[in-house]
Amino acid sequence: MNRVVLTLDVGGTKLAAAVVREDGVVDASREVPTPAAVAGEAETVFTAIAVLLDAVLADAGRPRIHGVGAGCGGPMTREAVSPLNIPAWRGFPLAARLEAEFGVPVAVDNDAKAMALGEGWLGAARGESCFVGLVVSTGVGGGIVLDGRLLHGRETNAGHIGHVVVNPGGEPCACGARGCLEAEASGSAVARKAARRVLNGEAGGGLLEAAWTQGRLQAETPPPRSSTPVSARFGLTARDVATAAEGGDPVAVAVLAEAGRYVGLAVADVANLLDLGVAVVGGGVAGAGELLFGPCRDAAATHARLDHSRDLTVVPAALGRRAGVIGAAALWYAAHPP
Ligand SMILES: [Zn+2]
Repeated sequence: MNRVVLTLDVGGTKLAAAVVREDGVVDASREVPTPAAVAGEAETVFTAIAVLLDAVLADAGRPRIHGVGAGCGGPMTREAVSPLNIPAWRGFPLAARLEAEFGVPVAVDNDAKAMALGEGWLGAARGESCFVGLVVSTGVGGGIVLDGRLLHGRETNAGHIGHVVVNPGGEPCACGARGCLEAEASGSAVARKAARRVLNGEAGGGLLEAAWTQGRLQAETPPPRSSTPVSARFGLTARDVATAAEGGDPVAVAVLAEAGRYVGLAVADVANLLDLGVAVVGGGVAGAGELLFGPCRDAAATHARLDHSRDLTVVPAALGRRAGVIGAAALWYAAHPP
C-alpha cells in the first residue's frame, strides 16, 4: 500500500508543508513565512499552519491522508513544543492540535532528527543504518540513526550534538556551558567570530570588512533587539562570511575553517562512541561547501582513528530545501510501520 502523509516543518523564519507518499514522491509542497507572533499569540502561528496545510492538501487534490508528520525546533517534550525561535509557542501541544484538526495519527519530533531520518530515507545517507545527521544553521542540531532506528532518549532529545563540548573553556553557549559545538560553529558563532576579528583590526582581504560595514549600516534602522537577525546583531551573517571566503578573504576563510574543524571533531567523537560510518552535514553554514568540509574532514580523520571509525565519511546533505518536509514524512513512516 502506498500510504500518503501530510507533513509540516516549523521553522523560525518559514513554515513548510507537503504531501508525501510512502514511496517518497512529493505530490505538492508549499512554504510561507512564519508569522512574527510574540508570547501569548500561539494561535496566530497555529492558524497560519492550518491555512498552509489546507492549501497544500488542495494542491495535491485532497487525497485521503494516513497521518501528519511534523518537525519543529526544540526544546520539546513528548507532549509539547517550545521552539526557541518561536517565542509565541511555549509548551504548545502541537501533536494534540494537529490530531484534533485532521483526525489521523500524528508524529511530531525535533526538526534536526527529522532531517537525519529524511537523509537516510532519500538523501545522502540512503542505505546506511548507522549515521549522524547535523544541521549547522543559526544553531546546531542533530539526529542519530543507530542500527536503522532513530535514537530518542527519555524526552526525545537524543542527538543534541550542538552541545557536545569541542573547546573546553571556549565561547559561552546559550545553554550555560562553554565551548559547545553550537557556540563554536553555528551560523551565529561564525558571524560573531568574524565580526570580532574585523573589530580587532584584522582586515583580511577587505571583503569581510566591506560586508561588515554594510551590515552595520543596515542594522542601525531599526535598532537591534534580541530577536533581530544575526546580520543586525553582528553586522554579518554566516552567508556574508562564506561569500567573503569564496572571494579569498583570509580572515573569512580562517573563521569557516575553524568552524569546520569543530564539526569534524564532534562527528569523530560520535563515530568513536557509536560505531558510525557516515556523518551528513546540512544547514545554511554547510552551504559554504569545501571551505567548511575540507577542514571538517581533516579534523574527523585526525580524531577518528579506531578500526571502527577511521573510515568515517563526512558528506553534505542532499535534500536541500525539502529536507524538512521529507524528514517529517520519514518521522511519520518510521513511527507507523506498514
Ligand atoms: Zn551548549
